[in-house]
Amino acid sequence: MAKTVVVLIDREVLDSIFISAKQLYPKETILVLRGKKKRDTIHITDLLVPPLATYGYGFANLPFHMLPMDFSIMGLVHSHPSGNKNASSVDTNNFYGRIMMIVGFPYETEQDIVAYNCYGEKIKIQVINE
Ligand SMILES: [Zn+2]
Repeated sequence: MAKTVVVLIDREVLDSIFISAKQLYPKETILVLRGKKKRDTIHITDLLVPPLATYGYGFANLPFHMLPMDFSIMGLVHSHPSGNKNASSVDTNNFYGRIMMIVGFPYETEQDIVAYNCYGEKIKIQVINE
């Protein structure tokens, strides 16, 4: 499997993630990332609110078996109200799809989001303003 090296994300998708994270603060939000993969690039174009997600003060749990079989699902994004954007061991164990994104408080700028591939390596994020 080719390693993902760049994640492109539409500005409005990023803004929607920040809005959700702010609304649920100090709890965590969790959303499903949808988009397309082209060789080593993943382009995130929209979000799904996962069914039956429970938003907690720890990891936002998600019944993974409830997710639709959908090849446009690229992974998950969740928020870290602490502002620390490192992936915890719980996060790594709950890796789903091709990438994992984490947004950290205060959920304002491109500095507040990180992406990891399935090897736990940080990957570059490019925001598309359009
Ligand atoms: Zn986490």
